[in-house]
Amino acid sequence: MLEDYLNAKEWQKIKNFADKHETPFLVVDLEKIKKKYSLLQKNFPFAKQYYAVKANPGDEVISLLKDLGSNFDIASIYELDKVLALGVDPAKVSYGNTIKKADHVKYAYNKGIRLFATDSESDLRNIAVVAPGSRVFFRILTESSDTADWPLSRKFGCHPDMIIDLVILASKLGLEPYGISFHVGSQQHDIGAWDSAISKVKYIFDWLSEHENINLKMINMGGGFPANYRAKTNSIDVYAREITRYLHEDFGDTLPEIILEPGRSMVGESGVLVSEVVLISRKARTALVRWVYTDVGKFSGLIETLDESIKYPVYCEKKGETEEVILAGPTCDSQDIMYENTTYKFPLNLAIGDRLYWLTTGAYTSSYSAIEFNGFPPLKTYFIK
Ligand SMILES: *Cc1c(COP(=O)(O)O)cnc(C)c1O
Repeated sequence: MLEDYLNAKEWQKIKNFADKHETPFLVVDLEKIKKKYSLLQKNFPFAKQYYAVKANPGDEVISLLKDLGSNFDIASIYELDKVLALGVDPAKVSYGNTIKKADHVKYAYNKGIRLFATDSESDLRNIAVVAPGSRVFFRILTESSDTADWPLSRKFGCHPDMIIDLVILASKLGLEPYGISFHVGSQQHDIGAWDSAISKVKYIFDWLSEHENINLKMINMGGGFPANYRAKTNSIDVYAREITRYLHEDFGDTLPEIILEPGRSMVGESGVLVSEVVLISRKARTALVRWVYTDVGKFSGLIETLDESIKYPVYCEKKGETEEVILAGPTCDSQDIMYENTTYKFPLNLAIGDRLYWLTTGAYTSSYSAIEFNGFPPLKTYFIK
């Protein structure tokens, strides 16, 4: 099972490090992020990458990507401060969160940010006042939430007709309407989701060009590209091939500027969360299923197991006959159960103190970890090269 996620050398590197440290912790292999960056670049040679900082805001990750030439998409002024402190050029940063205070827009503008996302009139008017002349891109609603493991629709974006109103308004307010963005949902299994989003973008581009003589220049295709979890997905080259084809079908030979905002696909596979079994129990004499409690849970990095959305591969070194278990975290909160309906099997001889390795946990884990729920410290992260 392990070899579906890490090769022998990668595993040995993690294992050598992990053996010397007390659980729980996340270990991130920076070498894997470097490879992912190159892989994305190779598959989308025409696109600029804006790493979604929220996926893993570790200084080491940001510095590495900066050195590789990446751009950055930030969700708040706090992430902005972080990337600027590490020497990132503000010209390489977009403020991609559509929900922000006017004061924060102003702060970002004063720090040199000139590229903002929006999806509402109020936010647009704020940007016009405190970030005059900036480039703005407009986020459309997408409807592909049922095929994404972690949907990002509904809360973000607006209808194409409303986008058109906003673009015209932006122009009147002295901003530069620059492009259209979408996010088809994180860990999106259906590559066709990009097809329908791109055709909406094409409609908006054409309408504005024809009726308003406004020529948008950029498409921000967001994230949604997969990391390798239990459920198989197509590989990134299949995503790239299909998405490139959709782009050319709609836009012909000369594409607008294309931006990608990879988060999960950039860093997910770089991380292994190392945990230990705290307790194993049965709830009744005749209970068929054992409960396995680990020293990590929903509040220490595994929040994406909410509704069992993200199904991490979980590895243990013991071999032999297996049985199904329920996997739960260590806190006094009954929501702190990772998997009850999804089948997770472990050897019958699994014991207290054994280690469980949560693979593909480089994205959306450490940054989500609680500060001191139940007194447990936030998830420790180590970076190795
Ligand atoms: C979270 C987010 C991303 C990253 O998405 P992934 O699916 O993790 O790649 C990209 N863009 C925006 C605007 C986001 O909110």
